Amino acid sequence: MSEQAALGIDIGGTNVRFALLDSKMNLKHPVLIRAASLGTGDLVDNLLDVVDEYAAEHNVNLVGAGVGIPGIVRQDGTVLSCPNIGGLEGVRLGDLITARLSVPTFVGKDTNFLLYGEYQELKQAGYGNVLGFYIGTGFGAAFIIDGQLLLGSRGFAGELGHIPLIGKDGLCGCGNRGCLEVYGAGRALTEYARRENQDVAEFFSSAQNGKAVKEFIQYVAVGVATAVNIFDPQCIVLGGGVLAMVDFPLEELQSTIRSMLRSDEQRHDLVMVQSNAGVFGGCLGAGAYCWSQLGSNKGI
Ligand SMILES: [Zn+2]
Repeated sequence: MSEQAALGIDIGGTNVRFALLDSKMNLKHPVLIRAASLGTGDLVDNLLDVVDEYAAEHNVNLVGAGVGIPGIVRQDGTVLSCPNIGGLEGVRLGDLITARLSVPTFVGKDTNFLLYGEYQELKQAGYGNVLGFYIGTGFGAAFIIDGQLLLGSRGFAGELGHIPLIGKDGLCGCGNRGCLEVYGAGRALTEYARRENQDVAEFFSSAQNGKAVKEFIQYVAVGVATAVNIFDPQCIVLGGGVLAMVDFPLEELQSTIRSMLRSDEQRHDLVMVQSNAGVFGGCLGAGAYCWSQLGSNKGI
């Protein structure tokens, strides 16, 4: 009999990634395709064709699928919001994939699965409460509490980028004004570079940006420290494209976060690690989440 595996799919605005994950958490057959190659027709239909083809190509006994998307997903697999990928909102993606592959499908927010993938290693260190912060174009966050991903009642848990800031009124992608994400994520850097007629890649390396860098770090730290003060985790993961930029002041971010924590114990004990999710980290997390759900619900 062929080997059992969960299918992990990571759908992004630019790339779509697939991989299989066996029961020992080994990632196999990773494939990356350009989202644009899915064609101009019905995105979901085209995606289902590719998923079908990929699953058929590999000789495994598929136990289920995990699918990460850059958006909000209700626990029944319905996509509530996905502004960066047209055609997904309102779609019952979980049901559609289940209908094609005849296996249970778990759809979730991409940052949740990214952290869940990293958690597979972190839990070996005995951590049960781990928060992840992924600062890219937006301010992504994910929370694992007592070993479980925190999803919220509707799927909106962890939307830290939308904490409202007093005295700020910049328009956010969510439609509200003054959200943290407008000031503490990649969009703020792009806006700053545009105003100053600079290359955004030099934001952290240009000495003349000193004051702006300090301010940016404060905003990011406020978001992170807010969550740490709520959940009191053992470990936090810091990642995302902004932290990977040249000369990003990681130590300054870490010390600013520590300065904002409630207690000296937290300042001393909180473990901060850099994200080491690879290109297929989202697939790993989606597959691992699928295995965990099958294990808890179906007795596998
Ligand atoms: Zn917002």
